[in-house]
Amino acid sequence: MFQSSSKKSEIKPGQQRQIIVLLFPFLLVLLSLKIHGQKINSNEGLSTFKTDSIIKHIKVLASDEFEGRKPFTKSETKTINYLRDQFKRLGLEPGNGSSYFQDVPMVNIATKASPEMQVSSSNSNFTLKGFVDYVIWTDKADPKISLENSELVFAGYGVVAPEYNWNDYAGLDVKNKVVLVLVNDPAFNSGDTTLFKGKTMTYYGRWTYKFEEAARQGAKGCLIVHNTAGASYPFSVVQNNWNTTRLHLDNRGKNEKNCDMIGWVSADAAKKLLAASGNDSTLFAKADIAGFKPVSLNVKISASLEVKANYNQSHNVIAKITGTKRPNEYIIYSAHWDHLGIGKPDEKGDSIYNGAHDNASATAGLLELARVFKRLTTKPERTIVFLSVTAEEQGLWGSAYYAQNPVYPTAKTVANINMDGLNAFEKTKDIIVVGAGQSELEDYLKDAAEKAGRYISFEARPEAGSYFRSDHFNFAKVGVPALYTSAGIDVEGKGPLYGKQRQDEYILQHYHRPSDQYDPKTWTLAGGLEDLKLLFQVGKRLSMESTMPQWKQGSEFKAIREKYIKGT
Ligand SMILES: [Zn+2]
Repeated sequence: MFQSSSKKSEIKPGQQRQIIVLLFPFLLVLLSLKIHGQKINSNEGLSTFKTDSIIKHIKVLASDEFEGRKPFTKSETKTINYLRDQFKRLGLEPGNGSSYFQDVPMVNIATKASPEMQVSSSNSNFTLKGFVDYVIWTDKADPKISLENSELVFAGYGVVAPEYNWNDYAGLDVKNKVVLVLVNDPAFNSGDTTLFKGKTMTYYGRWTYKFEEAARQGAKGCLIVHNTAGASYPFSVVQNNWNTTRLHLDNRGKNEKNCDMIGWVSADAAKKLLAASGNDSTLFAKADIAGFKPVSLNVKISASLEVKANYNQSHNVIAKITGTKRPNEYIIYSAHWDHLGIGKPDEKGDSIYNGAHDNASATAGLLELARVFKRLTTKPERTIVFLSVTAEEQGLWGSAYYAQNPVYPTAKTVANINMDGLNAFEKTKDIIVVGAGQSELEDYLKDAAEKAGRYISFEARPEAGSYFRSDHFNFAKVGVPALYTSAGIDVEGKGPLYGKQRQDEYILQHYHRPSDQYDPKTWTLAGGLEDLKLLFQVGKRLSMESTMPQWKQGSEFKAIREKYIKGT
């Protein structure tokens, strides 16, 4: 600074005019660059994307040496150190103060349920059989949990949804009671398309919501009545949770509300409970109609759980590029780094669950996005955060921890763009939006896709609630607009039938199996690269804007966003 000002003082008044005349052509060029700036910038960075660098990272992360990237093991240390080193090498700043890591304290809860549940009412006494009739567990770490003659109340769908003017708990005091609720949301069984979002499952339909709401209401327990269509999977999937261990965030001292006991009952067991109360399935049908009031079943149940809790710590990896103009506004890209580790061998004797597609691919994609953003000439005006979260496979815990303990203020977090599995194969014309109609981010993606000569399509089975099954969902839950896409199926030159078959085959043969491995013969990453470019375009555009993208009307997350924004 000192040098330039002294140089300036050496220029005499007569020379100034000469300098301006000499510089005039350059000024014109600069001006025209600025006018055309928008056009130039809108494509900037796209040619920087390379499949080579993505494949390089996948090879490392999905190698046998990385042992399937299971949290709490030495392969976690290897994985998170690799990610830290790569972010450093790319010139990114640490994302959590001076650290690239965020500690995620968790507890592993192993439950042993009583093999029987006693049921008593004025007209009968009987027992239900564990595993066959019910599957119960707890999110609490207390060593012994018991329900003794707890009153059972039918609370419809267990939903409190002000935006749909719906409250299944209206006028009900559930303290010390167990609520029995139906899976999915009211529109699903009634077929009434004017209720909620019709066939599309809202978050109110998810089993996790049912347990959360019951806990907020102060219920002692919550049992969901299973039906295959409503849950989108058979009771056998529920039975896989019989006496297993579950990860949970270590919320000691945080005053978190949990029911003592949560779980499912089979459709047959629910019939028996209804009969004991002198009711039949017409009672369930009443819950489909607005204005339904909860009903005490005059049935008492007893059951217990033994709990073993093990505390441990895993880590999210976090890096950033500070924005030039609005550094205190954040766009967060995320992808989970964890997979299943070493487990049951497959028919070939391979016991390493490499997780190449799930999710070494998108973790590599996250690093590629970081590389391209960092090399931009037109620097992002908002801060871009790259968040690689842990323990997705066991319950989306790394992202849940981040959302509950955000490094950057939630109200100032503009958007989350999440990736789980990149398309390893051919280019597709479409890209699939999971959670259609949720937020304006969908429109951003649509624009980017159309500019690239592509189009957006939507998930085939919105009633399955896929929007609630990956890490972006934890951002949605605290009101941050969140975009989640999956690979398209309309393969260039081959069409959607071929693409769908290819995708289904991969899921059937390799999903959560040791054979989810990098294959140099077939993995071109051509499709994944194009999808990554679209997500890059969305984030880049957001980074240059000063407005905040919104949830759309009817989204169950719109009110939560408004609450957070007002709170600051
Ligand atoms: Zn995944």
